[in-house]
Amino acid sequence: MKIVNCTYCGNETDLPFECNYCRDQFCAEHRLPEEHRCIRLTSIRAKRFGEKKIIREGKGGFFKKVFGRKGQ
Ligand SMILES: [Zn+2]
Ligand SMILES: [Zn+2]
Repeated sequence: MKIVNCTYCGNETDLPFECNYCRDQFCAEHRLPEEHRCIRLTSIRAKRFGEKKIIREGKGGFFKKVFGRKGQ
C-alpha cells in the first residue's frame, strides 16, 4: 500500500484525498481547500467576491476590511 504524506500537515495517510484545485494530496482533515489554505483558494474566492463586488462597489471600504484580516 502506498503511504502518502498530507501536503499540509505532513501526516501519513493511506487514504489520501486529492484537491480538485491544486492537485496536491491531503489527509481527510485537510482535503477541503479551506482546510489546507489551498493556493488556488485565493482565486476561487476572488471569483466569487468578484461577482458580488459589482453590486457593492459603490459603497467602498467593505472589501478592504474583509481582505485586511489575514492569517487567522
Ligand atoms: Zn493533513
Ligand atoms: Zn488545494
